[in-house]
Amino acid sequence: MSVTLSATLAANEEIERRRRAGERVLHLAFGEAGLPVHPALRERLAAASGLNGYGPVAGAPALREAAAGYWSRRGLPTDPGLVVCGPGSKPLLYGLLLAIGGDIVLPMPSWVSYAAQTELAGARSLLVPTPPGEGGVPDPERVAAAVRHARTQGRDVRSLLVTLPDNPTGTLAGASTIRRIAEVARELDLTIISDEIYRDLVHSPATGFLSPADVAPERTVITSGLSKSLALGGWRIGVARLPSPLLRDRLLAVASEIWSSPAAPVQQAAAYAYTEPPELVERVARSRELHGAVARAVYERFVRAGVRVDEPQGGFYLYPDFTGLELDVASSADLAAHLLDRHGVGVLPGHAFGDDPAALRVRVATSLLYGETTRLRLAALDAPDPLELPWISASLDDLSEALTGLCATRRATRSRVHVPLVTAPATG
Ligand code: PMP
Ligand code: GLU
Repeated sequence: MSVTLSATLAANEEIERRRRAGERVLHLAFGEAGLPVHPALRERLAAASGLNGYGPVAGAPALREAAAGYWSRRGLPTDPGLVVCGPGSKPLLYGLLLAIGGDIVLPMPSWVSYAAQTELAGARSLLVPTPPGEGGVPDPERVAAAVRHARTQGRDVRSLLVTLPDNPTGTLAGASTIRRIAEVARELDLTIISDEIYRDLVHSPATGFLSPADVAPERTVITSGLSKSLALGGWRIGVARLPSPLLRDRLLAVASEIWSSPAAPVQQAAAYAYTEPPELVERVARSRELHGAVARAVYERFVRAGVRVDEPQGGFYLYPDFTGLELDVASSADLAAHLLDRHGVGVLPGHAFGDDPAALRVRVATSLLYGETTRLRLAALDAPDPLELPWISASLDDLSEALTGLCATRRATRSRVHVPLVTAPATG
């Protein structure tokens, strides 16, 4: 097995270690929502702390009903009996890979854990590049070709995965691409896993959102959770919406042998969250605005530095491409190491997301820029213009300085190469 500590979590621990040792690091390597827990959720959790029974494997009825309501309000009528809750959407995704079985088509690039989980499940992934500007969805025409070819080689491909909106690119696939991928999945009889954990963080309502479950409900599983929209990553709660009792029962069998049930008190607080009371709707709306404003500001800093990058549409990620800048690095891993060691900026190499190791792309997470303390983070949430807050604007300036420094290295490298050529005749 070649699976090692997940790149996201490993980078977070490494940067925390450096910071504890007194190093100044701009932490753009970890996709944690970076905001405090809403007090209403803390109260619900505290009030439920006496719940010490395991409860049903599928999750507490109140949570399944509330999650069904959440999807129904988004145009996807949902039977609570087809909702399965787990300790985060990550274990649910792993459970689904085991429950569905076979090989899986993944977008390239895509979130670090999909390919690793596929390997843990004893299967193989087919990495298919995404269409330009539409991260998170493998190019439908290429999927058709790749799956047909893999099947002629005897491979048993059973599913494909999409991330809407996407981590690592921060973009959202459009409706026509979703319709086409759903059609391809139907033609090839593939189950679609639609990871929609960032759905409520699409920055602008004008962008629109189409789930494959809207077009191919008979074959689409949706996974989601509260880690991003309500910043509850550490509470470990996720939900899945299954297309059939058969797949639900397979997932429940896996769940029952791995995690038994999600934490009972957390489920009570999550059930409250999924009823979407006004104070939490407002919190999600403010969070979305903050994520959008800061992601856009970081995007502009990259653009100003001459780095190619897609404009973010949802969540808190960017995927800049340093190709063509003639940097003195040969891989995304070198570039990430160089940015951290020489410029104090922590990012993740595109390679960790299944991208070509030689492509100079990195993932930038912008959500840990809101401040180090609860007080600062709340101030960021409340600010009419968060970019004016001194700690946020200072971080943006640090980033610009690092990018300028990177370009200066490039110039210096070029002139170093140049010097011997000029001086050679004199010394010869
Ligand atoms: N999917 C994506 C794309 C993610 O970025 C994450 C981040 N943790 C997850 C799933 C899993 O989140 P969680 O297990 O906290 O629900
Ligand atoms: N999803 C987050 C990221 O991409 C971190 C949490 C995790 O990987 O489990 O950085």
